[in-house]
Amino acid sequence: MSDVIKPASEKQILGHPQGLFYLFFAELWERFSFYGMRALLTLYMVNVIFEALAERDYATAAVYASYGSLVYASTVIGGRISDAILGMRNSVFLGGILMALGHFVLAIENDIAFFLALSLIIVGNGFFKPNISTFVGTLYEKGDPKKDSGFTIFYMGINIGGWVAPLLCGWLAAAYGWHYGFGLAGIGMLTGLIFFWSGIKKGVFGDKGLPPENGNIHKTVMGIKQGILVPVLAVLSAPVIAYLLSSYKAVATDGLFADQNIVNVIFKFIGIAVLAYLAYIMFKATLDERKKLFVAVLITFFMTIFWGFHELSGSVITLFASRNVSLDGIMTAAQTNSLNSMWIIILAIPISMMWTRLSKSGKNPRTPYKFGLGLLFAGISFYILAISGNSANENGLVPFAYLLLMYFLLSVGELFMSPVGLSKITDLSPIRIVAFMMGVWFLSSAFAFQVVGFIGKQLAIESTDKNVGGFETLAVYTDGFELIAYYSIGAGLIVLLASPLIKKLMGNVH
Ligand code: GLN
Repeated sequence: MSDVIKPASEKQILGHPQGLFYLFFAELWERFSFYGMRALLTLYMVNVIFEALAERDYATAAVYASYGSLVYASTVIGGRISDAILGMRNSVFLGGILMALGHFVLAIENDIAFFLALSLIIVGNGFFKPNISTFVGTLYEKGDPKKDSGFTIFYMGINIGGWVAPLLCGWLAAAYGWHYGFGLAGIGMLTGLIFFWSGIKKGVFGDKGLPPENGNIHKTVMGIKQGILVPVLAVLSAPVIAYLLSSYKAVATDGLFADQNIVNVIFKFIGIAVLAYLAYIMFKATLDERKKLFVAVLITFFMTIFWGFHELSGSVITLFASRNVSLDGIMTAAQTNSLNSMWIIILAIPISMMWTRLSKSGKNPRTPYKFGLGLLFAGISFYILAISGNSANENGLVPFAYLLLMYFLLSVGELFMSPVGLSKITDLSPIRIVAFMMGVWFLSSAFAFQVVGFIGKQLAIESTDKNVGGFETLAVYTDGFELIAYYSIGAGLIVLLASPLIKKLMGNVH
């Protein structure tokens, strides 16, 4: 179906290619499913899957980290397969179907189904996420100044999904049961696919996103067409990934709580391999390329630190919200997952306007300063949570306003770093390895989840009591948040101090 070539629609909406709005809605619904599910995931593991274990927080932190690492690492493979065989359209379809399937399998109440479902989402996201993002880029001619604002609109779609989904899925889960929440996430993903499909039917993408001209999709390997082999292997990889994810559980039930999880080990190897390959590329590059690549690696590293703290929102911060934040009559703990996206929606346009305004007077801070400030904001946001303990009531619950303020500051930090970094990666990488560097950029989120897992395990509370909380848990969290605040502020200050030097290495890149 996706092979049909139609002339590109010339129609524009708000000055952007019509196709952008189909991709916007497709991604909005995909993120709806992703973040609707994520809002429930940690609480579901603690209260259902690992309920009987005293070390349930620890086990949850480990599985959450493995899931998050793999869900972002799979994008590197999904991007490569799309470039070489499937093309973006087929990849988005394949990914979307696998993710929807995953969400529906999650609606089955069973431990095996649980790990299989997470695996289907991991594989599906690998095909969907990188390809829909690059698809946006293809809608614009090279150097089109509209491209940046196209991406800002797209980022809004992501966050509209991320804002609404935890509210709805969280409400369904609380009112009717976990599985209704997961089911709605699946319906969201299907809705996204319908938008994408209707865009193709209307011909809004023209000939964009079709399989590569090498014709690999029709070539056979072991007598099977590659276009068939890829989806079959994708489905077959799910049980293997499920085994990797659940490998942790076997260790946990043996009562051993050392870090014996296979995914951790795999990521150590991937980390070493990527660094070695980067060193090799840098060695072969020209001096100017080498300087820029070094900066690209640096900003990816800073981004990893930032996401490592930011992505705690779906794990430790959700548990903190459920145990130690006064949420009565406001929202449920799962629903607090919507706060980050809510702030992004409010702040994205004012902050991008601020950069444009500052550029006009030549005062737009260069990338390393923005990154330093972003890490400072993240640090201060955690400091707010750390001091919230001083305002706890007699039940050890802190006012909701602290959480709201914390997410405000964290979101400002995100907007100083994430969209800026994304476009700098493309500017700083030599064209021949820009796709690889994009992969490294996504891997920064994957490695960040290893940090999330590490912190989650440090702040794990041992208990099977459903009502654990109050002063028993408050100090564990606030002490942890204070430490994170110092690390993040320290990192931010180091980046700011090093900025004049980094700036020089960047040459003409702003
Ligand atoms: N919130 C953004 C998204 O969902 C970025 C998340 C990340 O890279 N860790 O696309």
